[in-house]
Amino acid sequence: MASVLPSILDPLPTAAPATGSDALDATPGAEARLRDKHGRAITDLRLSVTDRCNYKCVYCRTGNEGAQYSELPIEEYARVVRLFVSLGVEKVRLTGGEPLLRRGLLELIGEIAAMRPAFSLEPLDIALTTNGHLLAGMAGNLKRAGLNRATVSMDAVDAETFARITRVPGSFERVRDGIRAAQDAGLGPVKVNAVLLRGFNDGEIEAFAEFSRNEGVIVRFIEWMPLEEDRTWTPEAVVRMEEIVTRLNAVRPLVALPATHASETARRFTFDDGVGEIGIIAPVSHPFCGHCSRVRVTSDGKVRTCLFSQSDHDLVGPMRRGASDDELRARIRKIVDRKEARHHIGEPGFKKPSRSMVHIGG
Ligand code: SAM
Repeated sequence: MASVLPSILDPLPTAAPATGSDALDATPGAEARLRDKHGRAITDLRLSVTDRCNYKCVYCRTGNEGAQYSELPIEEYARVVRLFVSLGVEKVRLTGGEPLLRRGLLELIGEIAAMRPAFSLEPLDIALTTNGHLLAGMAGNLKRAGLNRATVSMDAVDAETFARITRVPGSFERVRDGIRAAQDAGLGPVKVNAVLLRGFNDGEIEAFAEFSRNEGVIVRFIEWMPLEEDRTWTPEAVVRMEEIVTRLNAVRPLVALPATHASETARRFTFDDGVGEIGIIAPVSHPFCGHCSRVRVTSDGKVRTCLFSQSDHDLVGPMRRGASDDELRARIRKIVDRKEARHHIGEPGFKKPSRSMVHIGG
């Protein structure tokens, strides 16, 4: 079987305008779809519902600071989502902080599940990113409320290593049970996100391959980005895509899988026997900004057009001052038009964003 390594090294598009859901653009009114000045269609909304978190992952939080930003009432989040859906968003991901800590989450999911995409006949895709600590007890209710899929962050399959990362004893068993409960509840295929840190959990790559194969989950390795509360990020600490691919390929030969959609961020693989699925998201070594379809709204109602934005844009202020839906849509268009072309990780003069990941919503 041919090695997958050469295809991995192919450059990803970084500057070409994204097509987003261009296949759908024959839909009447699709010219009204939200786009930025680079031509990228915005189809993917990430909404943070709290910046509180019950884990203190070493690569994300200092361990000393708690929440820094306010939360909106559930009905204001629902209005924000409705506005974005009316502009062409087809996928809503609820995140945080830890979204399962947020009271009213089920009601919010129920409200979102009643919405229909403006330019697609497909139902809205509703996903959740969680650390999984509370998932075992909530998976069934989340599914019944209308959630389609869960992504669980789990940075080690060795229980001790995992507890050292989360700084919460017993966290591995809780999260593993949460993953299984989500699969059982029909929130699958569950994606398991792992951020690898050199010298911390980079010995886990092969064990994660086994975990994917044994548990029937999609394991996705994410390169660590400079988005932590501390100033601990260094390029040397990042475990890059090429190394991950080489090591997985030594477990069993990898076979590349096609992207599931135009704005796919992960390189997808299975093994030569078709068992297990691995995704590698490589924003540091192989940026994919050229086909970014995302916009984020923080827990306190600010729009962020890039993880690395130097500022955010208030939406809830105008909303509370009585702006109409049309006025808010016009504001969103203006904000999104100025979406950054790309991030500048690793370049001289790189500036850390104005908020860290836990306070943006990952
Ligand atoms: N608490 C939820 C969770 O743990 O999934 C949602 C929020 S968390 C900030 C979302 C994702 O961001 C997690 O998968 C986490 O591993 C990832 N993340 C946090 N900091 C990161 C960083 N600096 N670089 C890459 N991913 C990061």
